[in-house]
Amino acid sequence: MIEEITVKTKGRIEFIEITGEVERILSKSGKRKGIVSVYVPHTTAGITINENADPDVVRDIISTLDKLVPREGIYRHTEGNADSHIKASIVGSSVTIPFLENRLLLGTWQGIFFCEFDGPRTRKVIVSVIGE
Ligand code: ZN
Repeated sequence: MIEEITVKTKGRIEFIEITGEVERILSKSGKRKGIVSVYVPHTTAGITINENADPDVVRDIISTLDKLVPREGIYRHTEGNADSHIKASIVGSSVTIPFLENRLLLGTWQGIFFCEFDGPRTRKVIVSVIGE
């Protein structure tokens, strides 16, 4: 089972939690055990899992990525979004989460985040439920 989520971002760099949407797709699948893949088909966006309780964690991740890979720099890619491509590669384009009894085996403080690095844009996230 494969479903698509649409994410509309408002800022150039923004993390948007999509755990609820992924859980809804898993629930609809009716599958009890297996893995869920959450994937972005974009070169300047990513997917990560991290803390969703304290929003300062996401703020710290974004500010640290900005320090590591500044927007202005000496880059060969001249579209003006070289940093976005690099940040997307650091974060990665997918995560895989096991599930049991139709529930994601996420830790208490973990959430799934769509990571925008060149917004605002309308983006796609592809969720595949593989199991029985
Ligand atoms: Zn580019």
